[in-house]
Amino acid sequence: MGDLHKHYQTFDHFLRKSKKEFENHIKNDMVIQGNIQDFNILKILGTGSFGKVVLCKHVAEGDKLYAMKIMEKINIIKNKQLLHTISEIRFLEAFKFPFIVGLMYFFKNNVYIFIVMPFIAGGEMFYHLRSMKKFEESLSKFYAAQVIMAFEYMHALGVVYRDLKPENILIDVDGYLKITDLGFCKKIDNTRTFTLCGTPEYLAPEIILSQGYNYSVDWWALGVLIYEMAAGFPPFYSKEHMKLYEKIVSGRFACPPHFTKPLKDLILNILQVDRTKRYGQLKGGSKDIKGHDWFRGTDWDGILSKRVKSPFEPTLDNVGDTKYFETYGDIVLRESINNEYADEFADFSVGKKGFM
Ligand code: AMP
Repeated sequence: MGDLHKHYQTFDHFLRKSKKEFENHIKNDMVIQGNIQDFNILKILGTGSFGKVVLCKHVAEGDKLYAMKIMEKINIIKNKQLLHTISEIRFLEAFKFPFIVGLMYFFKNNVYIFIVMPFIAGGEMFYHLRSMKKFEESLSKFYAAQVIMAFEYMHALGVVYRDLKPENILIDVDGYLKITDLGFCKKIDNTRTFTLCGTPEYLAPEIILSQGYNYSVDWWALGVLIYEMAAGFPPFYSKEHMKLYEKIVSGRFACPPHFTKPLKDLILNILQVDRTKRYGQLKGGSKDIKGHDWFRGTDWDGILSKRVKSPFEPTLDNVGDTKYFETYGDIVLRESINNEYADEFADFSVGKKGFM
């Protein structure tokens, strides 16, 4: 208990400091850094809804590898994603936390915007979960601890994440994770929001029921993730969305017999439809989760500083090994003599675009 108390003290101090830094940082406009000519594009790593992510090397940095998200401006505008895109980029560059992916370079040309991030070579947690069928509880716990601290960080900054799922968690070479895809992040501070967004299996009941919600939805999604990591399938499932939503709002689910008692108890306390009973949302906040029996003996500070060895490390043949990624075709970048949507993408400052 002594260690946990010490961890709370130092982590709370870190969170207060981070909030100040974040608030100061987001007052400034984005700094354009880099140029597409600085990079050699090697191959496609993945496709998101509004762009492709490629593996590339930075020539002047001794061919250092990066992941680059390439989004076509016309696509963003046509799909009414301008505000989302701007906030995704702003959060990417403003968050400074070991378990959240960061921004290394950002620039635009006449057709595209380019977001350069560290290359996270182990691929998606989704891939590993499907190939191992389920994770040992020790591995689920190791990952859950990192997600919890990342949520404590975002929430301390007044930001709700809203898109937790194994596809949005990347596994680094050292076996630690990085949360990616900040497109649904929203700064809500002490208010509530109503937008229906997220992934069906991970939606909290209050989102489905169109009730105003806040950070509670992230804790619910954590409960779903812990269940899915340890079971290999999510707690609520149906091919039909309406049936799935009925199951979620009923709050009824069964745990596989191999779940240990503390794991079952923790999940039951997080997957509470009634938010006044949900762990993470009570007076004790996230400490009710971190102090739960299932996490007994967890070295929170050791994980935060990556001193703890991960129970699983991806095996890579070389630094550019992409075996954990699917194979896609080549990418051909379009060119234009006009600077398309120049006005829309001129300004990424927080105030002017209504970001947050
Ligand atoms: P996103 O559009 O952010 O959802 O990214 C689409 C896919 O690209 C992800 O699901 C990953 O498979 C891959 N990806 C995104 N960011 C990275 C990264 N920093 N390192 C390696 N792969 C990435």
